Amino acid sequence: MVDFIADYYQNIESYPVLSQVQPGYLRERLPKTAPYRPESFETIIKDIQKDIIPGMTHWLSPNFFAFFPATVSTAAFLGEMLCTGFNSVGFNWIASPAATELEMVVMDWLANMLKLPKSFMFSGTGGGVIQNTTSESILVTLIAARDKALDVIGINNTCKLVVYCSDQTHSTFTKVCKLAGIYPNLCATVGTTSTAAIDPIEPLAEVAKEFGIWFHVDAAYGGSACICPEFRHYFNGIEQIESLSLSPHKWLLSYLDCCCLWVKNPSGLTKALSTNPEYLRNRQSESDLVVDYKDWQVGTGRKFKSLRLWMILRTSGLVNLQSHIRSDVRMAKMFAVLVKSDPRFEIVVPRQFALVCFRLNPYSEVGSGYIEMLNRKLLEWVNSTGRIYMTHTIVGGLYMLRFAVGATFTEDRHVVSAWKLIREGADALLKVKD
Ligand SMILES: *Cc1c(COP(=O)(O)O)cnc(C)c1O
Repeated sequence: MVDFIADYYQNIESYPVLSQVQPGYLRERLPKTAPYRPESFETIIKDIQKDIIPGMTHWLSPNFFAFFPATVSTAAFLGEMLCTGFNSVGFNWIASPAATELEMVVMDWLANMLKLPKSFMFSGTGGGVIQNTTSESILVTLIAARDKALDVIGINNTCKLVVYCSDQTHSTFTKVCKLAGIYPNLCATVGTTSTAAIDPIEPLAEVAKEFGIWFHVDAAYGGSACICPEFRHYFNGIEQIESLSLSPHKWLLSYLDCCCLWVKNPSGLTKALSTNPEYLRNRQSESDLVVDYKDWQVGTGRKFKSLRLWMILRTSGLVNLQSHIRSDVRMAKMFAVLVKSDPRFEIVVPRQFALVCFRLNPYSEVGSGYIEMLNRKLLEWVNSTGRIYMTHTIVGGLYMLRFAVGATFTEDRHVVSAWKLIREGADALLKVKD
């Protein structure tokens, strides 16, 4: 399997980045039922090449510029092997003391790298936990915030609860509100999903404080950059918020899924989420000297995921993680310069982190309906070549293309060829029109 994966990486540029299959393609290729007799590993691996690979959109391709990247590293891979190899299910301390304690150490390490205040660390008065996704991080903090508010206004007043976010907050926030009910909560974003825009934490924190609102910061993508001093100012005011989430699977070399959640007041979480069934009771948990992470998350069982982060932090060190972030930002800047060099194109919103939002706008006098149609066509043209994959967004009514640098294997030459391809697309479209 390791050989297979190595070959996959070796050949990844020969596959279309965006899968070109039609819906239902796999059902037609695979048998209707699982086999009665066991099949050999060799047969199965042949089918992976033949049937699975063609139906994959290759997130690890150096020509993947869509959404946000999903980063990987050898260190994370090895950490994941260990995690799977041990298969420890550390829901409480006694179920696997090392799993709980390593997670506490690693969360404090990462908090230190981000220069978070002590109030978010176990070495201070707070603490952190590895969740699967941002959605789960926000869900558990919303539930804690809801219960905190209901403590004040009374359990029968759920209908008075309100949440605040911006029109650029990730859609998962709305979903999570539905799951949890509605309550006073403020969610700001460092690096929005559409354009990587950054909410100012400091002034928002003042408002949150005045009205006693639980203030959460979603830094799923952009937060990782705050390990570099030149980006850290985006976290100014962070000491005033209640909770912060950041996903190393997006930009800090971890595999999916790994979302770090820090809270100032862990008891807010555990009060809302703790369970205490007889079959999980033990002396250590009752002593209050240990953390039982099952009370910090939605599920009970949990993987030994901190091994992965620990491997990344140790084998890279802060210095290499900073260069990794800077290298992606540098490539995005280079792309922005290329876009600006062609008068037919424009940068729509200022580049943030490693995301460039741009569009083709050759006759700036033309109405936006036509420009949108042109850019939709351009995106379709580019993606249908299979040579790169980009996505789009609409903000304030403006349709734009998103070029997100950060796939682990991307080098300057991939960015340059991507730009060449985009220009070719523009040439083809505009020629047809003329
Ligand atoms: C990716 C992203 C999310 C969604 O994250 P999941 O981990 O998939 O739940 C939420 N917010 C922001 C800002 C994101 O970039």
